[in-house]
Amino acid sequence: MAATPSTEPGRHVVVVGGGFGGLQAARGLRSADVRVTLVDRRNFHLFQPLAYQVATGELSAVEITTPLRQILRRQKNARVILAEVKAFDLDRRVVVLDELPNGARSLELPYDTLVVAGGSAYSYFGHDEWAPFAPELKSLEGALELRARLLTAFEAAEVETNEDDRRAWLTFVVVGAGPTGVEMAGQIAELARDTLRRDFHDIDTGTARVLLIEAADRVLTSFPTRLSRRAARALEKLGVTPMLQTTVVGVTADAVELMAADGTHHKVKTRSVVWAAGVTASSLAGLLASAIGAETDRAGRVLVEPDLSLPGHPEVFAAGDMVAIRGAASLPGVAPVAMQQGRSIAKVIRTGERKPFHYVDKGNLATIGRSHAVAEIKGLQLSGFLAWLTWLGVHLVYLIGFQNRLLVLLRWMFSYVTRGRGARIIQHSGTTPPRKP
Ligand SMILES: Cc1cc2nc3c(=O)[nH]c(=O)nc-3n(C[C@H](O)[C@H](O)[C@H](O)COP(=O)(O)OP(=O)(O)OC[C@H]3O[C@@H](n4cnc5c(N)ncnc54)[C@H](O)[C@@H]3O)c2cc1C
Repeated sequence: MAATPSTEPGRHVVVVGGGFGGLQAARGLRSADVRVTLVDRRNFHLFQPLAYQVATGELSAVEITTPLRQILRRQKNARVILAEVKAFDLDRRVVVLDELPNGARSLELPYDTLVVAGGSAYSYFGHDEWAPFAPELKSLEGALELRARLLTAFEAAEVETNEDDRRAWLTFVVVGAGPTGVEMAGQIAELARDTLRRDFHDIDTGTARVLLIEAADRVLTSFPTRLSRRAARALEKLGVTPMLQTTVVGVTADAVELMAADGTHHKVKTRSVVWAAGVTASSLAGLLASAIGAETDRAGRVLVEPDLSLPGHPEVFAAGDMVAIRGAASLPGVAPVAMQQGRSIAKVIRTGERKPFHYVDKGNLATIGRSHAVAEIKGLQLSGFLAWLTWLGVHLVYLIGFQNRLLVLLRWMFSYVTRGRGARIIQHSGTTPPRKP
């Protein structure tokens, strides 16, 4: 097993994960007297909050991604390694890398300080066999695969002669009515009713059914009830059918099986299921926990100290979706939490002052279609066009890179006026394309 040299001067900080948390930690160390190595298995930062717009053809992949090397190119003390992290040896202070671009199977990367921010993945509630039929939106590959499947479903309906099968192709099921599920359902409805209607001649894409399945009794449970009700009404106006207090109990290539609150089961024939339900922490959380002989919590997150360090290892920090702070209230799995934690860790490393992390909640936003959103900002509840403008501004500010901001703004302006979507390309990511029912 090869080892990278650690003889250069300056403390070596290894940051695992170039997502929201890891990137803030790495950038927060730009003026520190340390060497920073950022390791990620992707060569780009993905702006996950807009992944659903790639999945529905509104934006293209390059507009929500930025190469990590480009982000850090002016940071003289930082370098980037493209590799998968497969183990941590906390006693020897090394990170073990795999899947290196030169084909090497293993490389040991020594560190003085380690920061891990590996994010999370969707959880299929113990039913991983559903995954091939219900792609998720956590990765760029997932978003591109979903786009291919959604667009293929309309193509299939166009040539389908059997009425029952055609209806199945035109039925879209989104599982989970959190912000991602709500945003996704709204976009699919708009794609069917606005964008594609003029493009197809043998089918009326406007007859497509979009079902939003939610086990709770309202959509957007992280928002106040009043905003949930407004969001549900806005969804219905777009043509989405929220099915509340309904649980998914089966997903196959051509149907979902649902269970209502009274325990009755029924099947919906569909070729397109989008998974936007529960999340589980990155497997890196489990690796860190087992390295210190601890357990993860129910969501697979590693428990950290209030300063975000690992118990018994003040030189190891973790941030973002994969952590829970010991003895503190659970924080939401959102980008601002990960970013603030990344910045806080960088400050501890820079100054040596170990202050407890304190989350500043700036609000909660979710958009429904092209001109409606709900927002709760410091107790102020907004819905409709004003909330949508707020949502738009916030996402543009947080998107990385001036070029991406400009391109996304132009795309949004264009599709607002024309109701068009420029990125309607069917390009499979390598997973199985949908088959005929
Ligand atoms: C579809 C969707 C929509 C969302 N919408 C919003 C929203 O509107 N607002 C909001 O605030 N939040 C939203 N979120 C949540 C937000 O994106 C996450 O909370 C945030 O990304 C967490 O940041 P992180 O740094 O913990 O992880 P991530 O940003 O996921 O970064 C993790 C990084 O670690 C890398 N990595 C993982 N494992 C390894 C490994 N073994 N080796 C090497 N690299 C590895 C990954 O490639 C990735 O780059 C959304 C999430 C999704 C999926």
